[in-house]
Amino acid sequence: MPDFTFCPNCGNKLNPVEVDGKMHLGCAGDDDGWQRPRCRNFIHWNNPAPCVAVLLPVLKLSKDNLPEKYWQKNKFETGGGLQPNAVVLVQRGVEPFKGMWCLPCGFMDSCEDPWAAAKREAKEEAMADIEYMQLLDACAPPAEEGKPINQLILFYMARLVGGGDVAGDDAAAVGWFMGNELPDIAFSTHQKVIDDYFNGRWTYKGNVTASIRLN
Ligand SMILES: [Zn+2]
Repeated sequence: MPDFTFCPNCGNKLNPVEVDGKMHLGCAGDDDGWQRPRCRNFIHWNNPAPCVAVLLPVLKLSKDNLPEKYWQKNKFETGGGLQPNAVVLVQRGVEPFKGMWCLPCGFMDSCEDPWAAAKREAKEEAMADIEYMQLLDACAPPAEEGKPINQLILFYMARLVGGGDVAGDDAAAVGWFMGNELPDIAFSTHQKVIDDYFNGRWTYKGNVTASIRLN
């Protein structure tokens, strides 16, 4: 959320207001005698903006290490036993951190359900169809380069059931990366979740289905 200078309702300059011992910006709304009931005692709370990010474990194999009977074109169907060894990352096509990589992520739309937002972002950025698995973590990111980041990020783990290998809007590229070949990650919060996954903090349950492809 931006720190407003002027009231978003009436355009008057916002003034410091103390509420419960904390300073906020507020608009009295009737300084100049106008009737502006929406603004009277308006407080700009500057709440964090909620974001979602999706960890998509996938199984990345090469023709060299899988018997031919298991593969067909670039997709696999497995009976079980195969576990993911990689995650889906998108290369950022826009600032900030353009050119670096991160989990599929984005801001929630107005009044949007957070899991619906995660599904939407996975589709928009990586053309990925996903199924809910688990809410992994929630955090407020630390300041970056001295600038506070007023956000709340919800991290989901999801099962990739289709796509996930073609860049969509805002993404320059999509890649599947194993823990020992990670590219430069744009955000420390994403880096931590990715590291935690590869360090075994969370377990992917069930089979990989569409989330297998030849490297
Ligand atoms: Zn106002």
